[in-house]
Amino acid sequence: MNGDPHPEAYQIRGIPTGGVLHQVTPRSAFFVTSKEASIRTCNKCLKTLPEDSFHKRIYKSGTVSRQPTCKACKKIIGQQRYTAKKDYVLWVNREWRNANLQKKRAIDKAWVEKNPNINTFYRALQRARKENLVPLWTTEADLQEIKEFYRNCPEGYQVDHIVPMKGKTVRGLHVLNNLQYLTPYENYTKANKLTV
Ligand SMILES: [Zn+2]
Repeated sequence: MNGDPHPEAYQIRGIPTGGVLHQVTPRSAFFVTSKEASIRTCNKCLKTLPEDSFHKRIYKSGTVSRQPTCKACKKIIGQQRYTAKKDYVLWVNREWRNANLQKKRAIDKAWVEKNPNINTFYRALQRARKENLVPLWTTEADLQEIKEFYRNCPEGYQVDHIVPMKGKTVRGLHVLNNLQYLTPYENYTKANKLTV
């Protein structure tokens, strides 16, 4: 810390006076705490940081202290755990799928039959991504709106791109503003008009 007024307040824990230094782990040797200066040393990165760089730890008794690991390290640990868990879940799913190919196919087929509109949404999204027609600024909320538009497509109608994704001169984007409901007949006559 720059110009700390209480250097004597630092307690370096773990170094036994007159003891043997090599018995001390780096973690305990570097552990610095000071009530006056409100700093502590992170037990992972061993950096000495201000107290608010550590998450609070509130005991049942009401005592408030700080966690031994700094916020930045906690974040990295959380991300590592998330990735590890995600990889694990993906692995379990993949193993199951490979062991139950026929069952998986039947489940997928049943899902498509039950959710034809959502299936169309995913297929259109896949096609649009392949053609680079999903703008970079599209958010997760935008995609949810588009999904709702597909979900609510009335019986006997189709979701149509007002400016077609495969237009000859202009290519329409896969955005909500470019979507409309058309009957198959309207869609067919529109396609004929555009090719003229
Ligand atoms: Zn840290």
